[in-house]
Amino acid sequence: MDAPLPGLETVAEELAAWLEAMRLALGAERTSLWIVDPDGRLRVALRSPSDASLDPEGVPLEGHALGWVVSEGVSLRASRKEIFHGGGGGWVVAAPLSEPRGDRVGCAMAEFDGVPRPDAPQALELAAAIAGRLINDARAAEAALEDLRRSEALYDTVLDLDRELDLRELSAAVCQRARRVTGARGAVAALWNHDERTGRIVASDGEVPKGLSAMTFRGDASYLSLALSNATSLPLDDLAGRKRLPLYVEGVVSDAGSAIILPLIVEADSIGALAVEYERPREFGERDFERLRAIALSVAPAFRNALEFGEVKAMSLSDALTGLPNRRATERALASAAAISERTGTPFSVAVVDIDHFKKVNDRFGHDVGDMVLQSVARSIRDELRPGDHAGRWGGEEFLVVLPGAAVEDAARVLERVRRRVEALDVEWRGKTVTVTVSAGLSGCPEPVRSGTAVVASADAALYQAKRGGRNSVLIAGDRA
Ligand code: GH3
Ligand code: MG
Ligand code: MG
Repeated sequence: MDAPLPGLETVAEELAAWLEAMRLALGAERTSLWIVDPDGRLRVALRSPSDASLDPEGVPLEGHALGWVVSEGVSLRASRKEIFHGGGGGWVVAAPLSEPRGDRVGCAMAEFDGVPRPDAPQALELAAAIAGRLINDARAAEAALEDLRRSEALYDTVLDLDRELDLRELSAAVCQRARRVTGARGAVAALWNHDERTGRIVASDGEVPKGLSAMTFRGDASYLSLALSNATSLPLDDLAGRKRLPLYVEGVVSDAGSAIILPLIVEADSIGALAVEYERPREFGERDFERLRAIALSVAPAFRNALEFGEVKAMSLSDALTGLPNRRATERALASAAAISERTGTPFSVAVVDIDHFKKVNDRFGHDVGDMVLQSVARSIRDELRPGDHAGRWGGEEFLVVLPGAAVEDAARVLERVRRRVEALDVEWRGKTVTVTVSAGLSGCPEPVRSGTAVVASADAALYQAKRGGRNSVLIAGDRA
């Protein structure tokens, strides 16, 4: 059997036997089973004998005599020429696989080289009705099985996703499950930023338009953003028929025929949305919609938890006053720079930057002004660095700068720029101008053997020398003040 019988695998053998029995009973040269495919074309699914040649392209339901047998539910007896133009001699008898004007399942066809028996159409009609019932039952059984599989997938989702705290893992898993429980070809998860009224695609699975990942979008430009910003459910059963808005993001073309978009709601707030898409219009049913709703309801709190966990994680690595990475994050950056240096044999440099006479700033202007100065110095350091460099708050008024790939002389030039920039800083306070300077000690790692900690210790020693030498200077370890 080389013809496709989707959803009918379990009865393929019965149908083949039935077709051969039909051929013998009618005294036909060939018999064939034609089934309406999802695109609405009538195609040969089985033939007897199995190597009999028939057009694999099939015929349209409208404008063809065989299509008419199916759509009108009537049998037909005609010359081969009449039905298949230029198709040689002989006769054709065809009968629908279901009751008149019933489901358009397909038809059975018998071909005769000579003239068929007069009762051949009635005989084929009776037999075709039996085959039609067999097909309908098999499809119903397959649908019930698929329904069961989707429900099981839903059950798994509800069970094991609520403890996932990594937003990326969570959204990827949710998309995968959403696709499985709805039988969709693709799934997309998006998050909603209430303050900015923008959405962001965080994950997708399966077949979705290219270029969608990590896109941000406005609150009213697509069906997805509409669902997000209004916290509404959108069953979109015919996207071809309503080309008013793009499905996901403005400018990203989707050829989906239908889709379901559901908001992720936590305590009456829409925090995101889940979308699944199908190739054809009306491809999803009520049950798919309900199952996706169950997923959206059950994973929404997990999304909120993952979002909050992400914020806490970011906070635990950043310094609240200056916004720079804190000591913990800086220690990590240092260790990673040392490891890369050791692996690749490339240099890296480290600088310890300390504000000069900072105690005096606090004493003269107060702690709040001291804080403002700290923020300004932090900004000055950050603004002088390249994207791969790292600046963190190391202690009270001390900063650590890690420059991966930089030889110590190059690092010295960067730190000299920082020094001058801070020197030129004017922090205004109550009509007074507060000025400060910084000193920096530098150490490089040309031979990648030392640990990050040792490099910092030697930079620290250079800083001490810079302070003793009069401050407001940059000193390389081993050099004299
Ligand atoms: P030196 O030039 O030798 O570095 O002198 P210094 O006064 O800067 O040195 P010292 O380390 O003795 O003083 C650091 C001061 O920084 C002491 C502390 O009160 C202040 N400080 C540390 N953290 C903060 C902070 O978060 N805000 C403010 N305003 N001051 C801070
Ligand atoms: Mg100081
Ligand atoms: Mg200090």
